[in-house]
Amino acid sequence: MDIKESNTGEEKRSLSFVEQLVEEDLAKGKNGGRIQTRFPPEPNGYLHIGHAKAICMDFGVAERYHGVCNLRFDDTNPSKENTEYVENILNDISWLGFKWGDIYYASDYFQKLWDFAVWLIRKGLAYVDEQTSEQIAAQKGTPTTPGTDSPYRNRPVEENLQLFEKMNTPEAVEGSMVLRAKLDMANDNMHFRDPVIYRIIQTPHHRTGTKWHCYPMYDFAHGQSDYFEGVTHSICTLEFVPHRPLYDKLVDFLKECDGTAARGIDDFRPRQIEFNRLNLTYTMMSKRKLHALVDERLVNGWDDPRMPTLCGMRRRGYSPESVKNFIKSIGYTKFDALNDMALLEAAVREDLNKRAVRVSAVLDPVRLVITNYPEGRSEDMEAVDNPEDENSGTHAITFSRNLWMERADFMEDAPKKFFRMSPGREVRLKNAYIVKCTGCTKDAEGNVVEIQAEYDPESRSGLPGADRKVKGTLHWVSTDHCVKAEVREYDRLFSVENPSADERDFHELLNPDSLRTDRNCFVESYAARKRPGEYLQFQRIGYFMADPDGTQEAPVFNKTVGLKDTWAKQNK
Ligand code: ATP
Ligand code: MG
Repeated sequence: MDIKESNTGEEKRSLSFVEQLVEEDLAKGKNGGRIQTRFPPEPNGYLHIGHAKAICMDFGVAERYHGVCNLRFDDTNPSKENTEYVENILNDISWLGFKWGDIYYASDYFQKLWDFAVWLIRKGLAYVDEQTSEQIAAQKGTPTTPGTDSPYRNRPVEENLQLFEKMNTPEAVEGSMVLRAKLDMANDNMHFRDPVIYRIIQTPHHRTGTKWHCYPMYDFAHGQSDYFEGVTHSICTLEFVPHRPLYDKLVDFLKECDGTAARGIDDFRPRQIEFNRLNLTYTMMSKRKLHALVDERLVNGWDDPRMPTLCGMRRRGYSPESVKNFIKSIGYTKFDALNDMALLEAAVREDLNKRAVRVSAVLDPVRLVITNYPEGRSEDMEAVDNPEDENSGTHAITFSRNLWMERADFMEDAPKKFFRMSPGREVRLKNAYIVKCTGCTKDAEGNVVEIQAEYDPESRSGLPGADRKVKGTLHWVSTDHCVKAEVREYDRLFSVENPSADERDFHELLNPDSLRTDRNCFVESYAARKRPGEYLQFQRIGYFMADPDGTQEAPVFNKTVGLKDTWAKQNK
């Protein structure tokens, strides 16, 4: 691929092949220099990170070339669509930070599309087929052998018109008839072998109610909608490459139908450009399977933090910037591939490092008593919210005699390089004092139930002379000044790298340990007051976000991602 630089200025970066094609069109003066794209979701589910890739391209091209990107809900199948999905899609696009021009619906064009279909019938270019879908499929032929004509292919125009009307009545039986375009049963491109363009559906539509009983197929709605709206570049994913000739052909017919072709006006036609879908390791994007996960309660809803949906990622604590940075980093190509989830997580870590407020939380607690610190006394220590952000403030964390520390930060017989708590060794308690471990207490089974240490009053963080060096710094919370919290840790949803390509039933591929809930964690009270949407780092552990299931008194946190990619190591 030859890489060119953008000529539009500010941000210098190499252009994707899609942008190169758009620039070629601009250079040729196509469409009077106008750029109009669209993002066309079908409102039959929630948006996932794959959609975000399409959104970044559709909106990105419009922004870059001072055009507009509209939304179009491709709502041509009422049996699967509803307004709940429409609303959530709008919400997710806003969360990503994009602003659309207008909102359109394919259902706005039902009358126009119907009229166009009637025009095709009159031209002898469409017919009603009364065969079953199995019979129609059996006659399609193969890419190397031509198909067989339907016995209804040469019906008179009048009969087709009558039957098409009949298809659009409440009495019409689903599957009893379809309207097919009469194109070429021997065409190398299977989509030209008399594609079905209308089918009967008796489920009421979420916008048009029971006005219609038969609905256009994707191929008979998408390109036409692009044309009606004035879309200049219809950017989509690679599976639509074989649809493109039909897309163009139907635009030709439309231009004949509306008279622009006869008047020699051929300067405007939307151009379809395809890029590779986003596929991520250890997850899948198929809406059908995501639906199944939700419906069978294998996850806790569309916004379960393990889901690849944007609402799931938001709940988990991913920032929109990290999602967009990840998409930028993988780029757009003309071949499908599998992208590593670890790359997404790296992008999340990098962005949250700049954003997250540092707090202390002890996830696997053991008691630590500072034996020379007076009973009943406490003092507020100053904690920097985010050392990576010079504009960030500070907050108070209360220190006292009785603390919680992480069980894994203590070892009785520690090797030399263990720079944590061990009898006779010194460590710094973050934002507080240097303490020297003096011993521990065990229960009858030999489990450590308490650790003792003595503090050095001269070593309070921030005091002159307090910069005495000790190797380890540990986090802690004060037992009387912390809040008990539930922490949810997530692992990969699927236990195989590419579940979409696996022949086994997807239920067998689910990771049984994808959610671990720990109800015995303690967080400093400042963290307990944080609400969903506020990015947090539990120091030395990872990034976390409050979950809407929690309250200030009983907070719940989702682990967004660990500080390091421990997962890669586990699987080596
Ligand atoms: P369905 O199975 O319902 O067709 P879909 O994932 O294609 O699901 P749409 O709502 O039709 O969903 O998709 C809207 C747009 O998002 C389309 O332009 C589609 O090409 C794009 N898109 C969908 N999935 C991905 C993906 N994994 N990567 C990139 N773009 C995607
Ligand atoms: Mg689709």
